[in-house]
Amino acid sequence: LFSSVEQGPPIEVFAVNKAFLDDTHPAKVNLSVGAYRTEECKPWVLPVVRDAEKRLAADDSLNHEYLPVLGLESFTQAATSMLLGGSECVAVAEGRAFGIQTLSGTGALRVGAEFLHRQLGYQTFYYSNPTWENHGLLFKNSGFTDARTYRYWNAKTRSIDFDGMYEDFENAPDKSVLILHACAHNPTGCDPTKEQWSKLAQLLKSRPSLFIFFDSAYQGFASGDLERDAYAVRYFAQEGFEFMCSQSFAKNFGLYNERIGNLTLVLRNASQVTPVKSQLTLIVRAMYSTPPNHGARIVSLVLNDPTLYEQWKQCIQTMSSRIKQMRLGLRERLEKLNTPGSWNHITEQIGMFSYTGLNPDQVAHIVSQHHVYLLKSGRINMCGLTTGNLDHVANAIHDAVTK
Ligand code: PMP
Repeated sequence: LFSSVEQGPPIEVFAVNKAFLDDTHPAKVNLSVGAYRTEECKPWVLPVVRDAEKRLAADDSLNHEYLPVLGLESFTQAATSMLLGGSECVAVAEGRAFGIQTLSGTGALRVGAEFLHRQLGYQTFYYSNPTWENHGLLFKNSGFTDARTYRYWNAKTRSIDFDGMYEDFENAPDKSVLILHACAHNPTGCDPTKEQWSKLAQLLKSRPSLFIFFDSAYQGFASGDLERDAYAVRYFAQEGFEFMCSQSFAKNFGLYNERIGNLTLVLRNASQVTPVKSQLTLIVRAMYSTPPNHGARIVSLVLNDPTLYEQWKQCIQTMSSRIKQMRLGLRERLEKLNTPGSWNHITEQIGMFSYTGLNPDQVAHIVSQHHVYLLKSGRINMCGLTTGNLDHVANAIHDAVTK
């Protein structure tokens, strides 16, 4: 029976990560998989997460009963407030915004996509070119039949192709879902400006059959400021849009393997909340029945406890400022080496990734000759850089560009 199964294509990011792990060279550097690393190049359990875990372990009132299908309410409410800004958000105050707990950001996108396809009949979705590699697969597997891209990256200017994006949205057929990165666009690290978000909002107001699906995987992690990283989502809520937003707590809490996420829905009318929740319940029930507990308890405890919350904000500051330092360090070194091309985009981009502009040939050279692992697109995870390996990486880039 199984002899008819063809080998599927590898998932690039995991394949590159494996190649790094298999490499025995002492100076190897991993800039592939999107996870935070300390200055010692080690994974980081946020101290606030350790504290929360200790408190949870000591709490004898907690047990391992099933959570409700739509998750832990103290978590979903806190996560939705973190995204939308609490009761100062009119949709929250009017009871027409709510969240459901999901299996990290991916799970939120998947549940949302299934709902849009099954309940509202959407077939077409747009993702940015380029985007996080899972958007396409995930929407297709949710039943969407028409995958399209919108222009996003201008390789010449190494910045957003805003006119292209705008034009593609203008020309999108009715009933399309538009996936928009809420902040720290993966992989380019380039977000629209406030003015550009406002232009998009004006356009989308005139195209009410287009549905906005924000993907927020880096709130707080990107700039260190939770409000700033939620700007676009809050602005669209304030402008009266209906939308969904997936939230991941993988990066900003360092809870990658706990699979903790939230899907926020902002509706126009509070009376629609109950039926929409009932349909989401059926989707989740058939998919994994109920979500896991551990990450939800940690995030809920931290977001609802003023002292832990302040401690957490310090942790995201630590992560985002280390990334900014690494951006500066890499740019300075490349400029000092007089590496051909301009490198200002490295400090202008934000978040975990930088889209270096290196071509696949140069990438292959860097990997094979210098043991520095990155994606074919030239995307690098800034967190893989440390003061100790910056010179090695800068020299590798210089060598590839000038060879
Ligand atoms: N969206 C984007 C843009 C991402 O970069 C990521 C993480 N790589 C995710 C969603 C979801 O990640 P997770 O499922 O681990 O929360």
